[in-house]
Amino acid sequence: MTEARERRITALRASLAAAGLDALLVTSLPNIRYLSGFSGSSALLVVTARAALLLTDFRYAVQVKHEVGDLARVLIEPTSLWTRLFAALPDLGAMDAIGFESAHLPHADVLRLLESRKDAPRRAWRPATNLVEALREQKDDAEVACIRDAVRIAESALGATIGRVRAGMTEFEICGALEGQLRSAGSESHPFETIVASGERAALPHARSSARAVRAGDFLLIDFGAVSGGYCSDITRTFVVGRATDEQSAIFDVVRESNASASGAVRAGMRGKDADAVARDYIGRRGWGEEFGHSLGHGIGLEVHEAPRLSRTSEAPLPVGSVVTIEPGIYRPGWGGVRIEDDVLLTAEGPQLLTSFSRDLIEL
Ligand code: ZN
Ligand code: ZN
Repeated sequence: MTEARERRITALRASLAAAGLDALLVTSLPNIRYLSGFSGSSALLVVTARAALLLTDFRYAVQVKHEVGDLARVLIEPTSLWTRLFAALPDLGAMDAIGFESAHLPHADVLRLLESRKDAPRRAWRPATNLVEALREQKDDAEVACIRDAVRIAESALGATIGRVRAGMTEFEICGALEGQLRSAGSESHPFETIVASGERAALPHARSSARAVRAGDFLLIDFGAVSGGYCSDITRTFVVGRATDEQSAIFDVVRESNASASGAVRAGMRGKDADAVARDYIGRRGWGEEFGHSLGHGIGLEVHEAPRLSRTSEAPLPVGSVVTIEPGIYRPGWGGVRIEDDVLLTAEGPQLLTSFSRDLIEL
């Protein structure tokens, strides 16, 4: 893994040179983890053309040695990471232009950067975006292996849970059963709040689980994931409690076909908007375009939502090696909804489905 991180830092240095920056102050924790391996909750990382400096606090003194090794110079600071950072910067050599991650720095901390210029008037802090995120889009083999494992854990937990679902159980109870199975199967954490939405609540694309008890005839939408090696999976399946009606089956089929058409057609090199259009056009032709109101999908990795995006406005081509979700849905307020979400690796040879859980309509 150290070699992979060295490659990432080398790639970042090339991006810095292209952006006219002497260094980057990295404050996004997932970006810090990607570059250095450090997975703690408090850190600042500076990458220059020649050096890498990581600051963290006393709580992580042991962990940081283990995770970072000699990839970066590490400082353990007992009081203020910022004060120590400003004191340490001159040791890194002359730097006129230092980028900061404007998407990941609170305004109060930006003010600290500006304040620090009192002691270093030649230093310019420049807002920078997506320098590390762009590198993260293309997963290497070790990253893909982690995502595959997160998919495996999630699917085995779902399989172990659905057989226990009975009318009368609350969404909370189903959620708890699933999350217990996820932990038993080895998930390091829950990558996002597990969604268990039943009946008319399945029409809420981002529902929170609730105390509602599921009833015969309900749709049961479950959107969840696992984490392995820090990497996320993100899967949705929609079931019917008891027997499905013809109307439920018909809508389910539209979503399933839309998912299948997009999963089969998505390619590296395609613009995100064109992938989105494959699923959206299919649903539109079947008369449900208005009921599919969100984007088709997103990248997954160290974060559950990351680049690239598969949306109506994504002009950027999808990179080889990216792992994206395909998650069309149809939502009818007051009636219910269906979403089917898979995780797909975009190889140079074509799309490779990482999820294998049945996409058929399962009656519980
Ligand atoms: Zn999801
Ligand atoms: Zn998703």
